[in-house]
Amino acid sequence: MSRIVPPPAVIDIARTLERAGFEAWCVGGAVRDALVGIETLDWDLATNARPEEVQRLFRRTVPVGIQFGTVGVLDRAGVLHEVTTFRHDVETDGRHAVVQFGASLEEDLARRDFTINAIAVHPERLEVRDPFDGRTDLAARVIRCVGEPAERMREDRLRALRALRFAGRFDFTIDPATWSAIAGSAPHLGRLSMERVKQELEKVMAQVARPARTLERYREAGIFAALVPALADAPPARFAAIDHLPHRPLAGRPGRVALRLAALFAEPGVAPPRDLERTLKALRFSNVESRLAVDVAQAVAALGPLATFEGDDVVLRRWVAEYGRLVVPPALRVALARARAEGGGDAVEAEAWQRDCVARFRRLHRRAMAIAWRDPITIGDLAVDGDDLRTVGITDGRAIGETLRALLDAVLEDPARNTVDGLLARARRAP
Ligand code: ATP
Ligand code: MG
Repeated sequence: MSRIVPPPAVIDIARTLERAGFEAWCVGGAVRDALVGIETLDWDLATNARPEEVQRLFRRTVPVGIQFGTVGVLDRAGVLHEVTTFRHDVETDGRHAVVQFGASLEEDLARRDFTINAIAVHPERLEVRDPFDGRTDLAARVIRCVGEPAERMREDRLRALRALRFAGRFDFTIDPATWSAIAGSAPHLGRLSMERVKQELEKVMAQVARPARTLERYREAGIFAALVPALADAPPARFAAIDHLPHRPLAGRPGRVALRLAALFAEPGVAPPRDLERTLKALRFSNVESRLAVDVAQAVAALGPLATFEGDDVVLRRWVAEYGRLVVPPALRVALARARAEGGGDAVEAEAWQRDCVARFRRLHRRAMAIAWRDPITIGDLAVDGDDLRTVGITDGRAIGETLRALLDAVLEDPARNTVDGLLARARRAP
């Protein structure tokens, strides 16, 4: 297991606490990450000093979560370090906790969610306090609740989602009793605020390199059935596709998390459900995220499976015009990822399939981007506008709108038609 090296600023803070007669221990995610060899920046300290004592001991502090005992201490460089008073939860209702200070380090570790998150290390002596054998579970690569799993999940239902995220992030298995408690939690997850559910999903998309397995676990545990029914029956390839999306964000919009979230709702050849927007709103998607997800879902539905797309330039131009220039890159990425996820057969066939998908994608992408940025695909791109139409006697507002749409339709068929004379002649001829 890797060595623990807390940053000097954290050691300084711990020294100040200890000189004043208090204990100070590194706890939580940073200790866990250091032990598995992942570098972290957020080193949290736990102490028996009360929040007001922490505030008194340091010159610059921020009351980040004072009611839960957390004071942010700013170091010389202005970096914030969280110092939290040992606490136990005296009352819990599945989403809120009432906390009490005056606990010991052991009691503080006992209220933490998983054994791998309940290890304390002294910042200088590097003495380890690990009453729940978190290091054993780290070595065995398993997520296990501290204490009785069903009870711990009852106290805070968010733990069910956190367990799945940590399992995905570290590629760990889940201890059977903990897994049963997660599945047992599913019917009660409605107690969680949708903001927290959305945040967890975002963290999965941001932190888990290949989230398909985690999403399948959400499904198997009944979590999607309880929280996002639209995803409960998604074909496995939909989740698998997310593993195949590019890891780096596309140039410009959207970022990786937004693209992964959007891909959750896209099905090639199948129109998205009419209430997709309502589903996304319930999941607290922002307007921008929701717009992207709906646009991508519709564009992917209209394109159909990448492996069988045979459209000529007219078909492709109409597709680009319908969904917009900016939807082309994300929609094609999702279509490619889905196609790659579906590739099967033996190793040789699978490799040929992957190559074929990528080649098809490249050709399609090149054609679609050329169309998007070269061809006239919106009314604003037409060689004529409403004023021009008035000069040939079309003056009624509605008629102008209809004529422009008809002209765009003709131009989508053949961009060479986009000339002033040609379009005005066409407008005159129109009924
Ligand atoms: P991340 O890398 O996602 O920040 P983390 O383990 O640091 O992982 P935090 O949410 O920052 O997670 O919480 C810090 C620590 O607080 C955890 O390691 C765990 O010990 C404890 N903790 C956080 N949330 C809970 C919870 N819902 N129930 C019990 N303990 C929790
Ligand atoms: Mg953290």
